[in-house]
Amino acid sequence: MKDNIIEFIKDHYRTNEFIPLHEPRFDSREEELVLSTIQSTFVSSVGKYVDDFENGLRDYTHSNKAIAVVNGTGALYAALYHCGVEKNDIVITQALTFVATANAVNQLNAECAFVDVSKDTLGMCPNSLAEFLDSNAIIAEDNKCYLKNTGQQIKAVVPMHTFGHPVEIDKIADICDKWHLNLVEDAAESLGSYYKGRHTGTFGRYGAVSFNGNKIITTGGGGAILCRSEDDGVELKHLTTTAKQPHPYKFFHDKSGFNLRMPNLNAALGCAQLEKLTKFVLNKRQLAEQYEQLILNSPYSFVKEPRESHSNYWLNAIICEDIVQRDDFLEYTNRNGVMTRPVWELMIDLPMYKNCMANNLENSRWLAQRLVNLPSSVSVDIL
Ligand SMILES: *Cc1c(COP(=O)(O)O)cnc(C)c1O
Repeated sequence: MKDNIIEFIKDHYRTNEFIPLHEPRFDSREEELVLSTIQSTFVSSVGKYVDDFENGLRDYTHSNKAIAVVNGTGALYAALYHCGVEKNDIVITQALTFVATANAVNQLNAECAFVDVSKDTLGMCPNSLAEFLDSNAIIAEDNKCYLKNTGQQIKAVVPMHTFGHPVEIDKIADICDKWHLNLVEDAAESLGSYYKGRHTGTFGRYGAVSFNGNKIITTGGGGAILCRSEDDGVELKHLTTTAKQPHPYKFFHDKSGFNLRMPNLNAALGCAQLEKLTKFVLNKRQLAEQYEQLILNSPYSFVKEPRESHSNYWLNAIICEDIVQRDDFLEYTNRNGVMTRPVWELMIDLPMYKNCMANNLENSRWLAQRLVNLPSSVSVDIL
């Protein structure tokens, strides 16, 4: 069976060379826009591509404003900062995620609390979130949410759409409303994914997207903040661009801002990539369907998009029966020229987050031992 999978992958990507997990695809359009940026000399913080890219993202996702920034971690950081997350506050996220989610919280000197994921979505489990709050939180007279035992304020909840598969974001949003918590979606992996017809990252106050080289589209490095409120968006754009008041030559900054703006050179690449996004999602969904058929008669099970969602299938994944079978699969495929990868270590098992609060993490632990990602780049021949 492992050989069937390897053969299928080599055939699909038409190569006998080592097949990476995810690589970007460019054609002459990327060259054209990047070259025109270089020739114009506007490679840095001034130029039209940042505006074009932001408007394109806003229209694609139907959010009210999109802000292009230097990376996805920066997008999460700025969004949480604008929600008022500060020293000693608590931010609830899922234990099974890429480390950037927790790092953004830590960089604000706030603390993570980890809840479990659901086996159906691989993302934050609404029941686990509700249970954590019911047992540990109170809403005080000031109408704010606090941890009962330490008195720390809980400011935000950050669910992550794992591998592009949407979490049950409407249930999570209801819980956040009930407990007066800000909802910030880590949509770094889910550009092009929808839940009940609505784009991921647009349910919360903010959604953070990433355009790192391994994501569905790339700007080299980059990220974006999707904003539900245009007013929030205008403030946050100001904050991420050194809080400079517009003026032809004077420098007046009205608060301590950040320099998180995406350079025009990267945005040019992003504009060319965004034109291809719809085609990329379609191609990835076709590959997922083929993987699903192939895995059908195997000891592994294929991770399918959750109910009522339309996933971008950024990274395809299978679930092995146990950790022994997983390690055997990883070893065999990587040795035979096909890159496969286990999922991330749980955040609570990393040294810097081991003392954080956590709920029962049964599903996270179960998945962490069994999940394997398969090569998921867009086909070479669709451009
Ligand atoms: C890629 C990613 C990010 C952001 O990564 P950057 O490299 O900073 O753009 C954040 N969260 C998750 C879950 C990611 O996969």
